[in-house]
Amino acid sequence: MRNTMDNVQAQNVILARIGEIALKGLNRGRFEHQLIANIRFTLSEIGSFSVFQSQSRLWIEEREKSQNYLSDRDTLDSVIDALTKVFGLVSVSPAVKFTGGMKDILEMSVNFVAELLEKSSYQTFKVEAKRGNKQFPLNSPEICADVGGAILDAFPDLTVDVHNPDFVLYVEVRDCIYLYSRIIQGHRGLPVGTSGKGLLLLSGGIDSPVAGYMMASRGMNLDAVYFHAHPYTSDRAKEKVVQLARILRSYAGNINLHVVNFTEVQLELYKNSPQEMLTVTMRRIMIRIAESIAIQYDSKALITGESLGQVASQTLEALVLTDEVAGMPVFRPLIGLDKEYTTQIARRIGTYETSILPYEDCCTVFVAKHPQTRPKRDHIVNAEKNLDIDDLVQRGLASVEHIMI
Ligand code: ATP
Ligand code: MG
Repeated sequence: MRNTMDNVQAQNVILARIGEIALKGLNRGRFEHQLIANIRFTLSEIGSFSVFQSQSRLWIEEREKSQNYLSDRDTLDSVIDALTKVFGLVSVSPAVKFTGGMKDILEMSVNFVAELLEKSSYQTFKVEAKRGNKQFPLNSPEICADVGGAILDAFPDLTVDVHNPDFVLYVEVRDCIYLYSRIIQGHRGLPVGTSGKGLLLLSGGIDSPVAGYMMASRGMNLDAVYFHAHPYTSDRAKEKVVQLARILRSYAGNINLHVVNFTEVQLELYKNSPQEMLTVTMRRIMIRIAESIAIQYDSKALITGESLGQVASQTLEALVLTDEVAGMPVFRPLIGLDKEYTTQIARRIGTYETSILPYEDCCTVFVAKHPQTRPKRDHIVNAEKNLDIDDLVQRGLASVEHIMI
């Protein structure tokens, strides 16, 4: 936006709308506080911004007016991309802010539309006005009519279409005046940090990153654990998991990724556990190791990407036997979703392309040929008698490498 129009000083700002938090009663302050902290954190990687709250809205501005970050197209895009990923925001709009009267609104509106038309070949529009400041001499319909008229005069090729316009010019008269036309949807949810922390069992597949995203969208901080079977699985498989954790970080904030070298444990299991029970015995060990890490780093729940019936380890019987060794809740947000739906989410959140890179994961290397789909409790417990479970867990824990994402 041109920053001056005659005497009017205009400033580029971003308006962000709060979702579910607005429904919170007494706790609302805590949620808003966390939301603002999360916005500051994510934007601090782009530049120096101020975040204000006013009624049920947030406003993001450049800290120094001279910075002009928001008038740079690429920077503006990065800011919007970062903001839409902050859980708790419903939508964001880049806006122009200024003070003045009706004459200024008309001039700035024409100016705003001129800029829009430089980039797009719009033919129809409508104006929506909202007057929050009741001192303002014109009411909302009058503002709409005057602004619409000024635009029609300035751009004779445009026509008004109130039902299906190519663009809408929003005019909000509050403490200042705001103009905007774009409303970009956010991911909604609750601010990360308002629901404690969970430890995500993160593989390189499609499902577990989506599971992490879903729990983060309910306000959970995430840590992650990846079971790596070097040299049976390559460093590229690990890199892929690191990359997935980086993508998750843009939604969930910092993630402490714990990489367990699982090779010794798996070889031991492979040797000493009956083949058809390998799936469940292995998952029970994974859960035990994950839980120890969770306790150590203050996570209160485990999170997996399991979906009922998807594979042998995800039948009800197998899930029951897996849960049995967990002393904390195991959240499985995908339990009732089919793969197609999960895949759609993975595409939308940007993890899909990384997830389908063809590097093997530890469970495909040591997979049982005919896993039991209805494992029996006695059989599993008997199989575990041939194993020194505590020792295996300790060996897994001793191998952990920590990567801060
Ligand atoms: P995903 O697509 O997430 O890999 P999946 O459909 O391949 O899931 P499984 O391989 O049975 O299913 O794994 C089920 C869940 O167990 C995963 O979603 C993940 O949470 C966890 N998991 C599996 N393998 C690993 C691993 N190597 N490291 C960490 N967690 C894992
Ligand atoms: Mg997998």
